[in-house]
Amino acid sequence: MSPLRVERLVRAVETVEGAGFPIRRPFPTAELPTVDPFLMLDHVGPVDWPPGAALGAPDHPHRGFETISYVLEGEKVHRDSRGGHGVLGPGDVQWMTAGAGIVHSEMPSERFRARGGVAHGFQIWVNLPSALKLCEPRYQDVPRDRIPAAATADGLVEVKVIAGEALGQSAVIDTHTPVTFLHFRLRPGGHVVQPIPAGDNACLYVLRGEALAGDPSTPVPEGYLTLFERAAREREPGTVVIESGEAGGECLLLAGTPLDEPIARMGPFVMNRPEEIHQAIADYQAGRMGRIPARSAAVAARSTAPESSSTTP
Ligand code: FE
Repeated sequence: MSPLRVERLVRAVETVEGAGFPIRRPFPTAELPTVDPFLMLDHVGPVDWPPGAALGAPDHPHRGFETISYVLEGEKVHRDSRGGHGVLGPGDVQWMTAGAGIVHSEMPSERFRARGGVAHGFQIWVNLPSALKLCEPRYQDVPRDRIPAAATADGLVEVKVIAGEALGQSAVIDTHTPVTFLHFRLRPGGHVVQPIPAGDNACLYVLRGEALAGDPSTPVPEGYLTLFERAAREREPGTVVIESGEAGGECLLLAGTPLDEPIARMGPFVMNRPEEIHQAIADYQAGRMGRIPARSAAVAARSTAPESSSTTP
């Protein structure tokens, strides 16, 4: 396995999403439309909301791909048209396969909105291959204590294994195509070598501090993403070398087998051909992706309970 070199370094674009919350977006941008099979990486916040001010993403549809929510700080409530419901707190992951179509909302919990506080996390979109674009929707709600964690022998690098494998640990989340999603915490002097499967696209985004990545080693400041050369060119697995910056840092490593298929995307729909987008809009407008059921008293009680909970009815 040979160490991969950094092919590009891009700075995240600052914008707003949903009802108006601030995000940093390394892609999609005009400069970097996708990191196939990944369609979007949104770094949400950190934003310190005053009481009563926190915003979310009210009811909206998706078709043709998967959405992943990873919460670092704050608390949000997910609801969808298939009856899925969950309260996500720090460290929790929700992996939703929109497939043929789903309507969902992601809002700050009533408790968080009332008190205010820091909201921080990630929203990631992973594309589905054409054969799976209209698959049955699926909802995986994985609380923090079920996400495998590991550390290097010297303890200077810790990793949470959200998808794929790292430092001898395998993720519990089931993905439709091979995907690696790792969250590294680097202390000064920390160093780790992560294998990347042959043929995968891989990128690394620094969410705090600084990291050095690739071979030769390239400094990656906070809010920047590096794209590595595709391991396919070597026709064998590669490795990504990650080192801590002087003051430590945190980064996400994403890797996946590229689909190499045409992409037609419009807002919340990602298909292969424009006519499939027109069909998605028609199906949504006709109510064929469902609606979020009215909130039951039991659901309302759970989402305002004093202890954080996650449920998948
Ligand atoms: Fe969404």
